[in-house]
Amino acid sequence: MKKTVKDINVAGKKVLVRCDFNVPMKDGDITDDIRITSALPTIKYLVSEGAAVILMSHMGRPKGEPKPEYSLKPVADRLSELLGTEVIFAASPQVVDDNVKKTAAALEGGQVMLLENVRYRAEETKNDEPFTGELASLGEIFVNDAFGTAHRAHCSTAGLAKYMPSVSGFLIEKEVKFLGDALESPERPFVAIMGGAKVGDKIPVIENLLKKVDTLIIGGGMSYTFFKAMGYEIGKSILDEESIELAGELMKKAEQMGVELLIPVDSVCAKEFDNNSEKAVFDRDKIPADMMGMDIGPETVKLYCDIISKAKTVVWNGPAGVFEMPSFAEGTRAIAGALAESDAVTVIGGGDSAAAVEQFGFADKMTHISTGGGASLEFLEGKELPGISCLEDK
Ligand code: AMP
Repeated sequence: MKKTVKDINVAGKKVLVRCDFNVPMKDGDITDDIRITSALPTIKYLVSEGAAVILMSHMGRPKGEPKPEYSLKPVADRLSELLGTEVIFAASPQVVDDNVKKTAAALEGGQVMLLENVRYRAEETKNDEPFTGELASLGEIFVNDAFGTAHRAHCSTAGLAKYMPSVSGFLIEKEVKFLGDALESPERPFVAIMGGAKVGDKIPVIENLLKKVDTLIIGGGMSYTFFKAMGYEIGKSILDEESIELAGELMKKAEQMGVELLIPVDSVCAKEFDNNSEKAVFDRDKIPADMMGMDIGPETVKLYCDIISKAKTVVWNGPAGVFEMPSFAEGTRAIAGALAESDAVTVIGGGDSAAAVEQFGFADKMTHISTGGGASLEFLEGKELPGISCLEDK
């Protein structure tokens, strides 16, 4: 267990807090502020304890150069509104300079400032000096609350831990609790649902989950690589050629381990990768040469929803089909609906599955929706996340 902000005395201290304010923007406006609101509990707690709070984040990929379109100024404005108090924005293209140092030094307990996008500095993603030392010179305690970047060892996510006492914020605490409990002490039956397009990325996750779950359900574009491994023709469906052999090995491994690994039994197929394309349902061994699988079929939906209804813990990562197109969203919607209805602990990996749950209006019915796509995937893979392992143990 990692120490949190509650385990140390922060009153009157300068506290550097890494958040994930990498919010989606359109024409200079924030289109979804969930990443900002998710950081509020930690910021409010630190303010109420009398800490001087210095916030850090990245936004987008400015690739080590100051680029105005990636400035965190709009985040400072939104944060000021949400906190009901001024958030001082340190508008420096170098992120840390003499002025920023002066502002930080003058910051009093209960005040909040936000630094400019840490990725304006090329050292950030290399976890390199002198940037880490410059950031460290501003504060006395490091709090990491950026789960979305916890799988990266950068100056502001892991580097700072070398310089000062380092603990987690409430968001990282919550993510680790829900993802960790699901993996280490799940109520059974424990079902994992893996979907999405990139099998290669998810094979290590499937391998780790096979050691933990009672049933592993496969959906989405990766199904077709499994179909191929089973010897079926898949027409124009998405295929990860390099992973066919591995998919076959995973099926064998699951059998040896006595874990139920479910592959779709039917597919909604289309002529073209287009919402308006002609479509039809086919059993998995009958996909025509001129069609492509776009969603799990109705028999698969029935089978999967039945399994979900009996589960006590469910972890879901990756959509069951091309859910962005309404014609092929039914499988993903049905799975989200089955999760919403179930009384199991339901943990949604970030990224597309989180977007799907939001889109179908089931977000408030889930136990936990992770704020980090890549980070939650690496967590489920059993990897150590450098932004978390660097923090002090209780
Ligand atoms: P990933 O990033 O690997 O989680 O993949 C997510 C993407 O997979 C989403 O954008 C889906 O549209 C896509 N996807 C799901 N099912 C299919 C499919 N049958 N064919 C092509 N893409 C798919």
